[in-house]
Parts: sequence; structure tokens; C-alpha cells
Amino acid sequence: MFITDAHCDTLRSIGVDRAAPESCAVTAQRLAQGGVGLQTFAMFAGGKGPAGTPYEDGLAMLGAIDKLGVPVYTGNLPETAPETPHGILSIEGGEMLKGDLKKLEQFDQAGRIRLIALTWNHENEIGFPAKAGPKGHLKPFGRALLQRMDQLGILADVSHLNEDGFWDIYDQMELPPVASHSNCRWLCPVPRNLRKEQVRAIIEKGGFIGINFYTYFLTRRGSSNLEDVFRHIDAICEMGGENVLGFGSDFDGIDSWPEGLANPADFPALLDVLRRHGYTESVIAKIAGENFWNLLKRAEKKRLG
Ligand SMILES: [Zn+2]
Repeated sequence: MFITDAHCDTLRSIGVDRAAPESCAVTAQRLAQGGVGLQTFAMFAGGKGPAGTPYEDGLAMLGAIDKLGVPVYTGNLPETAPETPHGILSIEGGEMLKGDLKKLEQFDQAGRIRLIALTWNHENEIGFPAKAGPKGHLKPFGRALLQRMDQLGILADVSHLNEDGFWDIYDQMELPPVASHSNCRWLCPVPRNLRKEQVRAIIEKGGFIGINFYTYFLTRRGSSNLEDVFRHIDAICEMGGENVLGFGSDFDGIDSWPEGLANPADFPALLDVLRRHGYTESVIAKIAGENFWNLLKRAEKKRLG
């Protein structure tokens, strides 16, 4: 079964923090063991916001993609989903663009950016974060960015973004909103998770939600297991979301994960939980990888069209 993961922070660890690739949770070997055909590697801007060196870090991460151990698609995707592990790139934290559309084009030409999380946890030139951020709509650069992303077939990733920003994307963008690594706020009330209205809006537009494996976004108990992941998946399916669901593990960006789901080699155990709960193979295949793949292809077509 084709499996995709919409978010991990491995490229930051290797490209900026100089971690040895084999010390990361996401490795070529574990992706192959788990049957992951497509891993999204986020170019994470880092924790300092615009005051750091997000643009320079972005360049360093672009320069480190050959250390990931899997081929990264820096041009068009193949016609059919890959059978061996491959990577694609996203940006997490729009401060990497320094308020300049030319920087977006530079990154996109060099590595083909598929998704941009407009903010991380800091206010930037684009807008405001979900986490302890002030209320506010996207700034003028944010609105201009959405337009250019639509033209380039780059999806807006609302994980980390505040609610006003979410609805700006919903209203202003042709491409649907994507939450690459966020869960259900009504099951685990943290600002990084989505409200029901947001989930409904993503379903309506045919976007995507990647379930995040971070314990503290799954439950308030302080520890988590595969059933906690299932609860979030099932809640979105109950709302009619089987065509927008997938995974956004956040591996190499989290320090606590469900028991039995520590790295990409454990994906089959998660799919088995869906089977035990009576999910059909065709629904599991959609959640495992088809939904994200189909949306990526849809976005790419828009770029070419
Ligand atoms: Zn994140």
C-alpha cells in the first residue's frame, strides 16, 4: 500500500543542526521498512522567527537534500505514485521568504516547493500564528503570496497559522487549504489543532489534513498510543473527511509520540489499527497515501495549466 507523510523536520536536523542522517527518526531505511513512498521534508525556518536567519537556513537545507538518502522530486511528479521512498519539499515558516516573492521563486526553481506553512509560531511578514499570536488577517505580502502560490501550484499549509489567516486562505485562494500536521481541537484542545468549522471547510474545498503524531496534540494524558491517533482519524471520517485525511507525522520535530509509532517503520502498525476498527482497504488506501498524492497532482496540474 502506498503511504505518504505530509510533514517531518528531518531536513532541518541534517541541513542546519548538522545531525548525522542515521541519528534521525526518518531515515531511508525506515521509510523503506514502513513502505512510505513519499515523504515531505519541511524546510523549517527555525524557532527565532524573522529575527533569525530563516532565508540562509533555507538555502542550507536546499543544499542538504542529497544527504537525506532518498531521491527528492525537484521537478514534476511521476505519472503514478512511486514504489520506493522519495521526497518532496515544503517550507515551514514563511519568514524564510523575507517578504520577497523573488525568494519564493528562487526556492521553487531550485527544489520545487509543494506546500508553505505561512507562519510557524511567530508573527512574520505574512501573518500571525495560532500559538499565542495576536488576532489578525494576513498582511498585504501574505495576500500577494497566496496569489503567486495559486499560480505556481503551491498549497497553503495552515498548520501553525491563526484562524483569521485560515479563513483568508479559504476565501482568497483557488487551491484548497492544507493542514499538513494538525489534529482535532475538540478532542485535544490546543491552539495548533483545528476547530470543527475548519475541518468542515477543508472537506468542502477538497483540501488535506495530516494527522500529527505528537502526544500533546493527540491527548492531554501525557502519554499516547495508536488508539489516540485513531480517535482523531475517526472523528474526521465521521464528518465525511475520508477523502481529505492522511498523515503528517512531525517526526524529528517531536519529543513524544504514541507507543508503537516512533518512526516511519511503524506505519504498518497504524494501518492495522484502522483494519481492526473495520475500515475497508479502499478507505485505508486513501488515508495512507492516495488523498495526499491526488491533491499534489491536482496542485501541480494547476501550475502547468
Ligand atoms: Zn510544525
